[in-house]
Amino acid sequence: MSSIPQTDNKIRPVKSNGNLAAALGPEQFAAFPQKSDRILQIAGLLQTTLNVEEILTQFGNEIQSSVPHEHLNYVYEKTNLNFVIGKRARHSCTYQLSINNSQLGILSLTRHKKFTESEIKELEYLICAIHYPLRNALLYQEAVNAAHKDPLTGIGNRAAMSTTLHREIELAFRHNRSLGVIMMDVDHFKNVNDKFGHSTGDFLLQSLVECAEKSVRISDRMFRYGGEEFVIVLPETDETGVLRLAKRIRRRVEKLESIIDKQTIAITVSLGITTLHPSDDEKTFLGRADEALYRAKRDGRNCIRIVN
Ligand code: GH3
Ligand code: MG
Ligand code: MG
Repeated sequence: MSSIPQTDNKIRPVKSNGNLAAALGPEQFAAFPQKSDRILQIAGLLQTTLNVEEILTQFGNEIQSSVPHEHLNYVYEKTNLNFVIGKRARHSCTYQLSINNSQLGILSLTRHKKFTESEIKELEYLICAIHYPLRNALLYQEAVNAAHKDPLTGIGNRAAMSTTLHREIELAFRHNRSLGVIMMDVDHFKNVNDKFGHSTGDFLLQSLVECAEKSVRISDRMFRYGGEEFVIVLPETDETGVLRLAKRIRRRVEKLESIIDKQTIAITVSLGITTLHPSDDEKTFLGRADEALYRAKRDGRNCIRIVN
């Protein structure tokens, strides 16, 4: 466990390799038994949750009486996490958290008054309490994220889609906003696999996702619904907007030519679209998009159908 504090632009390195004596330094380690109850108490409290934000909030509250601060910031670049409580002030105390060379992000406290040496020392004890609960929560978060990701294309899987769709439907109702959805399926993909092989099929699915993702807005979310079937959720988009996007995707996929072993392979997609009704739930909403996709297939493929 190690923390490299940086206070008011002064760096005070504290090196370690998972060794508390080294983490704290000889003087602090000698005083550790008196502090350990408090550290264990905070660590015990933080271990009651696997939610990173909750851990940081509780940690901030717990240390407030010993190290008063106005703002806490935690940055974990690996997952683009930037958590903030309060408003940044002039004087800062910043720690690089790690356990056995595994980086756990950067924790920073700020306030208007300069931190005293004794407060910094106190913080270096107390910060021991957050390392393991934070590491466990980050590992848990990574596992949850991985469980929601399609390994082939890197986009969200069906479970992730369900969560997003549920949330977006609720938001659309609450704020009286429109919500669109596109269900997209590759045409005659079985033939492509039969003719060019499964790994070429995999490559084409990856190219298709890349192409479709470039066609949508940042707020639009694309998911792999099943084998060669995808769902795109479009917040704040009415029927005209959904249709415009579906047309763009259909056209771009048609033009997307992959050259594999000197052969040019083209694929097409059929798209079914719909927008949210006030009486909808996830099932009825997706059901209409599915019905629209079925009609697009029935009407010859490489086309778009709408079911209102
Ligand atoms: P349609 O136009 O009616 O959709 O015809 P289709 O051949 O695309 O539909 P069908 O449901 O008969 O076949 C889907 C094919 O998609 C069969 C399956 O092997 C292929 N497929 C599903 N998932 C993957 C995958 O991850 N990789 C590859 N290469 N192929 C996949
Ligand atoms: Mg298909
Ligand atoms: Mg299919």
